[in-house]
Amino acid sequence: SVRVRFAPSPSGDLHVGNIRTALYDWAYARHTGGTFVFRIEDTDRSRVTDEYIAAAAETLRWLGLDWDEGPEVGGDRGPYQQSQRMDLYREWAQRFLDEGHAYRCYCSPEELDERREEQKRKGLPPGYDGRCRTLSAEQVAAFEAEGRQPVLRFRMPEGSTTFVDAIRGEVTFDHANVPDFVLVRADGYPLYTLAVAVDDVLMGITHILRGEDLLSSTPRQIAVYRAMGVTEERTPVFGHLPFVMGQDNVKLSKRNGEVSIAWYRREGFLPEALCNYLALLGWSPGEDREDFTLEEMARDFTIERVGKNPARFDMKKLEAINGDKVRALPLEDFVGRILPFLQQAGLVSAEPTAQERALVEGLAPHVQERIARLSEVPGLMAFLLVDDAHFTVDPEAAARLLTPEQRPVLEASVAALEALGEWTHGAIEAALRSALLADGLGLKPKHAFGPVRVAVTGARISPPLFESMELLGRERSLARLRAALE
Ligand code: GLU
Repeated sequence: SVRVRFAPSPSGDLHVGNIRTALYDWAYARHTGGTFVFRIEDTDRSRVTDEYIAAAAETLRWLGLDWDEGPEVGGDRGPYQQSQRMDLYREWAQRFLDEGHAYRCYCSPEELDERREEQKRKGLPPGYDGRCRTLSAEQVAAFEAEGRQPVLRFRMPEGSTTFVDAIRGEVTFDHANVPDFVLVRADGYPLYTLAVAVDDVLMGITHILRGEDLLSSTPRQIAVYRAMGVTEERTPVFGHLPFVMGQDNVKLSKRNGEVSIAWYRREGFLPEALCNYLALLGWSPGEDREDFTLEEMARDFTIERVGKNPARFDMKKLEAINGDKVRALPLEDFVGRILPFLQQAGLVSAEPTAQERALVEGLAPHVQERIARLSEVPGLMAFLLVDDAHFTVDPEAAARLLTPEQRPVLEASVAALEALGEWTHGAIEAALRSALLADGLGLKPKHAFGPVRVAVTGARISPPLFESMELLGRERSLARLRAALE
């Protein structure tokens, strides 16, 4: 049965490319009824910390990408963290050495540099030149006597590697361009190319869907499988996902866009919107369908529908999808999702009071309609939730709309509202319309309600004015209008 792995080396927050890969891995495993394995590739512990590993697991959970084997859940092919599998890599390294698939290389970094320069000058292909492939016993003894610490290098066989990439079709690498590579560093530390191949074999991985940046390491990995005795039929199927590009058509990175999934989370993108959007970055369910859930993606995901061409990351489209998913949330769910943002902003207590809850629930439907990100919510709700002592009016808005010429608008509004019987948005609207528009001051709505909005909500953009005033209450609304007149 199908076994797919997601194998990040988290040296920071997982990024958009990682998660797109994880999503496709997950969807393929779920579609086929297979197993989704989550493995941490932390051979380089100077870059991959426990904190990043925990954060990676948390991010997958937040997105709803549950794994069947891996950190926290275990499984019978573990451990699932490479730093805990060092003995296995050393055993295989020793075997490769004993069987002649690998050799000790004594070349110093300086010597390698020098020869690299020479290769460049002569126009020769770069990479290790094979000097230590055939050392005599005397040469080895001499190097050892000098105290040199060897690395272990894989002996790349002659010829070429051809495999059928599930996304790109047949790919061939001439081994003339795949130099002998290091498996184990001089300090005894196994490297990625060894660990990844050993793990994929021992964990029984059948399908490797990963980023295109790893395409060139595939012939090396396949060569290690062969050295381990893995036949062609038992070699995992590779599929290399196209790059994700930024708006400038350069590979998406910190330089041309936001890549950290943690950032998208902080900005208030819903996990289901991120998954939906990332799914479309290289895959399509057909029939122009663009709105789907994770479950629907799992149901419909096939590798055949993954594209070969780079996909361009489009923030506007992500925001549009996020806005749609936000609007589709049941009110209670929406309130549950915005509370953390309001708490973070200090507008709602850690344990929300009944009063806070009522205000948030009252305003939520009006806010839900008009946002693309949840991080916009505190700004839109602050006027209602803030302590009156801390209410402030945006100075720029005040400079434009709370000027001496606009005093009559505020005065007429105060007079109309003081006389108002019931305090409902309908009654408030009727009272202000008759006081300020044709029957009253004769203003256009734009000029009439702008100053009222700024006085009451502190900003030129707010949730619908009359509903906002109803929720704010008569006393608070009037107090703000009067304050604007002082
Ligand atoms: N650990 C590798 C990375 O994060 C991925 C390895 C793989 O998928 O084969 O770049």
